[in-house]
Amino acid sequence: MERYGLFIDGAWRPAENGETYEVLNPATGKVVGQSADGSEADVKKAVEAAHRAFPEWSGKTARERADILRRAYDQIVSHKEELAKIMTLEQGKPLAESRGEVQYAADFVEWSGEEAKRICGETIPASTPDKRIWVHKQPVGVAAAITPWNFPASMITRKIAPALAAGCTVVVKPAQQTPLTACRLVELFHQAGVPAGVINLVTGTNASAIGNTLLEDERVRKISFTGSTEVGKILMKQAADTVKKISLELGGHAPFLIFGDADLEQAADEVVANKFRNAGQTCVCANRIYVQEEIADRFSEILAEKTKTLKMGNGMEEGVKIGPLIDGDAAAKVEQHVKDAVDKGAKVVVGGRRISEGNVHFFEPTVLTEVNDDMLILEEETFGPVAPVQTFRTEKQAIEMANNSRYGLAAYFYTKDLSRAIRVAEKLEFGIVGVNDGVPSTAQAPFGGFKESGLGREGGRYGVEEFLETKYISIGLK
Ligand code: ADP
Repeated sequence: MERYGLFIDGAWRPAENGETYEVLNPATGKVVGQSADGSEADVKKAVEAAHRAFPEWSGKTARERADILRRAYDQIVSHKEELAKIMTLEQGKPLAESRGEVQYAADFVEWSGEEAKRICGETIPASTPDKRIWVHKQPVGVAAAITPWNFPASMITRKIAPALAAGCTVVVKPAQQTPLTACRLVELFHQAGVPAGVINLVTGTNASAIGNTLLEDERVRKISFTGSTEVGKILMKQAADTVKKISLELGGHAPFLIFGDADLEQAADEVVANKFRNAGQTCVCANRIYVQEEIADRFSEILAEKTKTLKMGNGMEEGVKIGPLIDGDAAAKVEQHVKDAVDKGAKVVVGGRRISEGNVHFFEPTVLTEVNDDMLILEEETFGPVAPVQTFRTEKQAIEMANNSRYGLAAYFYTKDLSRAIRVAEKLEFGIVGVNDGVPSTAQAPFGGFKESGLGREGGRYGVEEFLETKYISIGLK
């Protein structure tokens, strides 16, 4: 069993109030570890440490920061198996997915480190001969990162690696459900040579108290959040008081369009890979599958056949593709969405049942047809393994249906028609568009949403830019 404290100013320490809490394995309901239950006093110490460490860290050369991040990448990759196991134990996703996530998490560290060396300003020609215009890039200062449980490693590295690359110091608050992966990760960064105070970690169960303290502190100049749109809006309002810079990566309600000319086998494989990853608990999972009328029956059959083969169970077991849902609330929401759809006329083609025992909750991978717009499932994020299939007639109608959402994170479509591919990609109101690609996320590309799905981008040079201020220096030569 893992036991962790808070990591503040380069050392592990108990929470100020001495409290700890138990971390549960969602596949068994058993305790897998303990983490410190931090509160306001701990957050204040963490911010102080980050603030103190800022001048030295931001004063290092880009090369020095890049070298440390490169060593952190090596540490993470060489501990991939251990991190993956911790992740599956506390989060539930299949071990193969955890291994994939650890590599994805490490990739942000490698990429951001390399980008540290390419943070460049510019000179702009002045309007008179006796002036010079310089533009400098500088780190914003102390950054706070608040992360969710569905990607316990990569949501952290996607924030702290670009922050560190830019020269910022950070305070991280991981999700209450998955602190152990975060603790082990932070330990590895430290072993790689990240100095005391540069990364501080506060775990805990009182998210709003921790959040408030971070948001109220004027030394915190940036908040980077991944989680629900609901909490994102709270943080956006709180950030207004001290006008912090904000990056928000919020909910999604991704459409997946299958046009009549698509390769149906391939499209169904991608829908399965996209929809059922992490038991449907990702913000870029397809929530609405729109199929062109003439191929709808055939496509639903193929999709149902592939869905039937997915093995459900404990993610530590070989061959398991669908792990447990994170908790009872999550299971209740999925169940409610399926029941509401069925009550309003949807047909369950495969799956459809919640399987709960004590505090362990699974939901069978499910395909629904005869779905319509009145159903909750087409409006709210389900965050579970349910694929609702609806039909469309024309390209224009498909685009309208896809865009008809307050969310705008990711959208996908399958077609062999090049002109259509370009037309549709340009018209979709989403930050990420997968054209014949159901899994586009990668460390070097910009990840983020339109509309209520968020603000800002993570990944590649876009991710580093979010942690930089632009300073204009005007020089008179007279
Ligand atoms: P999810 O539905 O994925 O759990 P949340 O938005 O509830 O999404 O949680 C994402 C992260 O935000 C978690 O680390 C959670 O503890 C934190 N969080 C939840 N409520 C608040 C809040 N009021 N202030 C700050 N952080 C919060």
